Amino acid sequence: MTLALLASDRGIRNDPLAWIVNTHCHSDHIGGNAALVEKYGCPVAVPEGEAPLIERWDQKALLYDYCDQRADRFIVSQGLQPDTTHVWGDLEWRALAAPGHDMGALVFFNPEHGILISGDALWENGFGIVMPREIDPAALPAARATIEMLAGLAIRVVVPGHGEPFTDIPAALDRAMRRVDAFEAEPMRMVRHILKALLVFSLLDHQQLPLAELPFYLDRVGLFRDFNRQFYRLPPSEMAAMLVGELEKTGAVRCEDGWLRPA
Ligand SMILES: [Zn+2]
Repeated sequence: MTLALLASDRGIRNDPLAWIVNTHCHSDHIGGNAALVEKYGCPVAVPEGEAPLIERWDQKALLYDYCDQRADRFIVSQGLQPDTTHVWGDLEWRALAAPGHDMGALVFFNPEHGILISGDALWENGFGIVMPREIDPAALPAARATIEMLAGLAIRVVVPGHGEPFTDIPAALDRAMRRVDAFEAEPMRMVRHILKALLVFSLLDHQQLPLAELPFYLDRVGLFRDFNRQFYRLPPSEMAAMLVGELEKTGAVRCEDGWLRPA
């Protein structure tokens, strides 16, 4: 899809691609790198903190097969350090550390036009999953500090990793901060949120899963199994019923003819 989009009238068609620059290395951000490099022959820059994970293809730390997510392996051409400035697309971009959702993540800020490429550190409505304190005690405090750091920038438009660009920055920062407060007040909410977000992600990838297989799936995929052992200790069938029930209630999934599908 990324190749087709780039080749279309909305993309660069047959122009060369100078660089691929990633805010962080989750599969939904770097999954197209290998195909893009193959077509355009361009170098890839990732945050310096993530480069060793990519080099040794750490599928647990990067949440790939550990979460049943797929990505093709690629070569890192440059590790980007925080607080460095780069010229990409005729604009100057400042790389800023934005830990929380991903502890090695960067965001890219162009002060001239007030453009922030935020990855999953800030969306119009929230931010990407953040690990609970039992997994990484530094993650949620880092997410809070990142939002505070972003509040200090003169941002005019955010280009997020998910969703359309948006301009009501104070409202987005406020929503993000309230979400951090809610997670801090009720840590199990973070755990449920992660499980639900990752299951929906898998469904979008697989398009459907047989409901009867779901307990086995949750027992086979590392993160679901480990989170159940650590936080719930439920039989996998009860874990499956709990997640499906919650996702059906919010309208994120549908159960049809024995299949679980994204809504
Ligand atoms: Zn992410």
